[in-house]
Amino acid sequence: MRQARRIENLPPYLFAEIDRKIAEKKAQGMDVISLGIGDPIEPTPEHIIKKLCEEAHNPANHRYPSYFGLPEFRKAITEWYQKRFGVTLDPDTEVLPLIGSKEGIAHIYLALTDQGDISLVADPGYPVYTTGAILAGAKPRLMPLLVENDFLPDLSDINPEVAQKARLMFICYPNNPTAAITKPGFFEEVVGFARTYDIVICHDNPYSEITFDGYVAPSFLETPGAKEVGVEFHSLSKTYNMTGWRIGFVVGNAKVVEALGRAKTNIDSGIFNAIQYAGIEALRGPQDSVKRMCEIYARRRDKVVDALRGIGIETVKPKATIYVWFPVPEGFTSASFATHVLEKAGVVVPPGSAYGSSGEGYIRISLTVKDDRLEEALDRIKKTL
Ligand SMILES: *Cc1c(COP(=O)(O)O)cnc(C)c1O
Repeated sequence: MRQARRIENLPPYLFAEIDRKIAEKKAQGMDVISLGIGDPIEPTPEHIIKKLCEEAHNPANHRYPSYFGLPEFRKAITEWYQKRFGVTLDPDTEVLPLIGSKEGIAHIYLALTDQGDISLVADPGYPVYTTGAILAGAKPRLMPLLVENDFLPDLSDINPEVAQKARLMFICYPNNPTAAITKPGFFEEVVGFARTYDIVICHDNPYSEITFDGYVAPSFLETPGAKEVGVEFHSLSKTYNMTGWRIGFVVGNAKVVEALGRAKTNIDSGIFNAIQYAGIEALRGPQDSVKRMCEIYARRRDKVVDALRGIGIETVKPKATIYVWFPVPEGFTSASFATHVLEKAGVVVPPGSAYGSSGEGYIRISLTVKDDRLEEALDRIKKTL
């Protein structure tokens, strides 16, 4: 049996590999603490769960969902965009629910790229920007996110010949994995670049609500002209602790939304209606759980940054996301530090290099672990250095 080349060329999914390592260490009797995946540990808010339970009892919801999502869910998404960002969207043409945003991020390549087309992707970045391209036969070209540019890509550094051949670009602010935020003027520059080279901008925005110290994250679609050149991916996963539910959406340019929708109707059959009703409840219901989660993450962020400073590692306090991104101590690479910490402290930290070559020299710590376990992990790391 021969595997397809596109699979042979695909690295195993980062966290699938990390899961395997954790299982191995646990089997050896080690008490492993994972600061790896960004997966909220606190439960989904009660009113959202209640809604799911009610709707799960309605037999009408047991049938195939409508392909383009419940009209009421699309409407709730447009209301939320209006209220939260002041962005007006047409619920019928500019909104498409997704089975988690990861699904849409992978599938958009089927809608927008042909064999050999180039995709400009942030490096380091969410792995699916790159692997989605590989699966579709497109060619990812990495845009380095460097500390000296505040982890924003330098668009003037992109070879115009490459830009000419590029069909889409993936960016993400607030950023995973660097926890960086956008700068005034950057999205405007991106819109200009997209117009010059006829590139679709895919802005991935799952962390817009996870912000600290009074920072309010924008939508890319607030930028004048953004809707003509791009879309924004959003997710309920991080905002409402709903990673397991698989619900997200994409909004923006109608032509892009239509193309992705057409691809998807031939692949999947949408999100369980009861989950979509729960999604409506999440967007329209009380938002105090979001505020509470931000307080929890800010507190953990402070613990991590303070502990790092205690061992001589300087890093800025991020204003958003559930991550702290920091440079490895002198004498380590990303991989050797991750291995050292796993072997000596039983703590899992993903090496920055796993998010792209420009992540080399960095480590990402996820704040989705209970405070006492986080403290224990930081303590153990400190003792190994
Ligand atoms: C978590 C995450 C996603 C995926 O979210 P789902 O909606 O759960 O699929 C996408 N992009 C980034 C940057 C993420 O961190």
